[in-house]
Amino acid sequence: MKHLNSLKIYNIKKGYLLLMFPLLTLCIFNIGYSKTVNESTSIKGYLYLGVVERHVEAKLEYKYVPIEAGISEVSFYLTNDVEIDELHGHGIKDYSFSKENAQIPFGILTVEFKEQLEIGQAIEFTLSYSGRSTKGFWPNKYKWIDIDPDFMILPSFTDYHTFDYEIKARVNDSDYKFVDAKNQQMTSRLNVEATSANYFSSIVAGSEMNFNQFTEGSYTVNIISNKADSVVNYLGNKSLEILKFFNNTIGEKKKVNSFSVLYRPMPDSIFRTMRNLTNDRLIMFTHNHDLIHTLAHEVSHFWWNRGNDYTMEKWLDESFAQYSELLYVRHTEGLEKFQEKVNHLEKESQRLPSLLKSDRFGKNWSDILYVKGPYLLYQLEEVLGKEKFMLLLSNLNEVEVSNTEEMLNELEKISNSEVRNMFYQKLNE
Ligand SMILES: [Zn+2]
Repeated sequence: MKHLNSLKIYNIKKGYLLLMFPLLTLCIFNIGYSKTVNESTSIKGYLYLGVVERHVEAKLEYKYVPIEAGISEVSFYLTNDVEIDELHGHGIKDYSFSKENAQIPFGILTVEFKEQLEIGQAIEFTLSYSGRSTKGFWPNKYKWIDIDPDFMILPSFTDYHTFDYEIKARVNDSDYKFVDAKNQQMTSRLNVEATSANYFSSIVAGSEMNFNQFTEGSYTVNIISNKADSVVNYLGNKSLEILKFFNNTIGEKKKVNSFSVLYRPMPDSIFRTMRNLTNDRLIMFTHNHDLIHTLAHEVSHFWWNRGNDYTMEKWLDESFAQYSELLYVRHTEGLEKFQEKVNHLEKESQRLPSLLKSDRFGKNWSDILYVKGPYLLYQLEEVLGKEKFMLLLSNLNEVEVSNTEEMLNELEKISNSEVRNMFYQKLNE
């Protein structure tokens, strides 16, 4: 679980860096699920989408509840494609919408309050805006609308303030249906609700997308796609295989029975593969379906989903997910293919600095998490042997370790203090 406090350490510049991360990585931050205040900030409203016109229109009712004292304004990233139609509320003094911002491809909307707010002192206001969006609309080639959180078609607090929301999304073309992952259906009227997210989840709509269900024993996988049956069947069967593999390895003591894959009707040059930020176990898949091991990485995150995202503790998510992907490759494609990938990690790791001592936002962050981290796990498996290593992985998920110290404690439990010290040394060198 993550806490609100972890958000406060970021200034706007780092917040922006963070924001750009999803564009660069396979994965996306998945934070802010915990609720630490009784009354939290909430947003309710409508989002209207005009397909051919690429028109967006939003009317949002905010109840903003500060988590620290002395707040006199609040700001949001918001696409600079829109104009503010209305912003009013009893305690609102003024607002400004600056469309040109250095190094930030969004506008920044700042709302000024008449007086400074105390902790927990709620203020309400209405925000309406509209415009023609240059992002998220592919009516011709892919018949697809994607209100991806990175596009800032829905505003995000620049300080990553946590909020609950309830958005009713509507589209003006009856050929288009929204993906309703929660109710496992396509729908023309989407009501999306999320509790304590600091980011909106994607709202997506398309033409001729179908839910296809695959089951085996107690496992169920939904593939949402408009692709040919052969492709959908392949993805469905592979998804079941991945689910089964992880439930028998990393998730042996904590089973996951189902998930959904949204197979976007466009190539991965447009979208990355990611998990939805708030919905239950939804993976947005965009790769060519022959790159199925990428899906395994994402599925493994149903277990590897902890560790502070803002520090190198994120290795507890990403390095483990990446190594889990390799374990799946070993399981399905054999030792030779696995070794080939390990050799690559080994070679690349030579040039990389210490995992734990590195800066989370330094220039090598990605390779340290996705290359060096998994290589260290490979080395640990070599020391422990396959059986003990698998025991460790399933124990980590059973206990739900949340930091490196706890991980090392679990390691020591199944081995000894020398192994613990050796591995700690490796994490530091
Ligand atoms: Zn990942």
